Amino acid sequence: MEELSILVVGSVALDTVETPFARAEETLGGAASYFTTAASLYSQVNLVAVVGSDFPREHLEFWRRRTVDLSGLQMCEGRTFRWIARYHIDMNARDTLDTQLGVYAGFHPVIPGEYRDSELLFLANIQPELQMEVLEQVHAPRLTVLDSMELWIMTARAQLTEVIKRVDILLMSEEEVRQYTERASLVAGVHHLLDLGLKHVVVKQGSYGALLFSADGTFFSAPTYPLEEVVDPTGAGDAFAGGFLGYLSTVTPGPDGQYSIEDIRRGVVHGNIIGSFVCEDFSIGRLRGLTMGHVAERYQILVDCSHFDPQWQFGKSR
Ligand code: AMP
Repeated sequence: MEELSILVVGSVALDTVETPFARAEETLGGAASYFTTAASLYSQVNLVAVVGSDFPREHLEFWRRRTVDLSGLQMCEGRTFRWIARYHIDMNARDTLDTQLGVYAGFHPVIPGEYRDSELLFLANIQPELQMEVLEQVHAPRLTVLDSMELWIMTARAQLTEVIKRVDILLMSEEEVRQYTERASLVAGVHHLLDLGLKHVVVKQGSYGALLFSADGTFFSAPTYPLEEVVDPTGAGDAFAGGFLGYLSTVTPGPDGQYSIEDIRRGVVHGNIIGSFVCEDFSIGRLRGLTMGHVAERYQILVDCSHFDPQWQFGKSR
C-alpha cells in the first residue's frame, strides 16, 4: 500500500545536554525534531512548528532531503526554543536546568490547508493549549497520538486533561503516569487514563522497554534492545513515537478503518527500536544514516530474545 503522510506539531529546539561522560551544546533538539527525523525513515512527514531567526539552516536542508514538508514551519524574529538538561549516572534520570520558550511564547500553530485531512497526527510535546488548537484545525484523523512532559503536567494539568480526552493514544513515561494520576500503582494509573476515553496507553520505561495497555484489556510488554553504551537518551520518547507512527503509516488498516491490535503491538516494537538507536549519539546523530535494514536487524533480535516456549504446562516437563 501507499504510505500515509504524518502530521506532527511540537517543539523544535536547540538543546544543551550534559551526561556524566560528555556534553553537547546547542544541538538540534525538540520533540518534533526527533519525531520528524525518525518517522521520515518510513513516510513523508509534515512538520508544523516554529523556529527563531537564529536557527541553523543546515537542519532545514537535512529535513528537505528526507521528504519532510516544511511548509507548516514558521520562522519568526527571535530566539529558537532552548532546553538545557543534565543526566544522572543512571541515565534514566535527568534534571531540566532551563527551558527558554523563545519564539514558542507567541506561537500559534497554523495547519496548512493541505494537511488538515491528515490521517495520522502526532501531538508532540508542547503547551497543551497549542495541542488543542491543532485538534480544532484538523478534520478527522484516523489516529491521533499524544505526548507530554512533566512541565505541562505540573503547570497545565486541566488543559492537558482536555487534550487527553480528544486523542486515541497517549504516550507517557512511567514517572509521568504516576505524576499525572497520583496513583502509586502504575496499572491503577493506566486504568484511570483509559477511563478518560483513550484506546491505548503506552508507558515508556526508558531503558526497560515499553508497556501497552488497551481499552479492550490487551496488555503487551515490548522488550528493550540491550544497548552496551548510552551516549544521550534525549529524544528517545519522541523517536519512539516516530517509529510507532512511522510503522503504522506503512500498514493498511482494517475495513473499519482501525488498526488491529497486532499492528499496534508491532508499532510499539518499532518505537522501542528507533528509541534505542537515538540513545547511541547526541541529538539526531544516529538517525542520520539509519536504514530500514538496521531496523530489521534489531527487530529480529527482539523477536529472538522475547520468545519463550508457549507449550509449557505444569506437570508436563519436556
Ligand atoms: P524526551 O527526551 O523524549 O523527553 O524529549 C526531550 C526533547 O524535548 C528535547 O529535545 C527538548 O528540546 C524537548 N523539550 C524539553 N522540554 C520541553 C517542553 N517543556 N516543551 C516542549 N519540548 C520540550
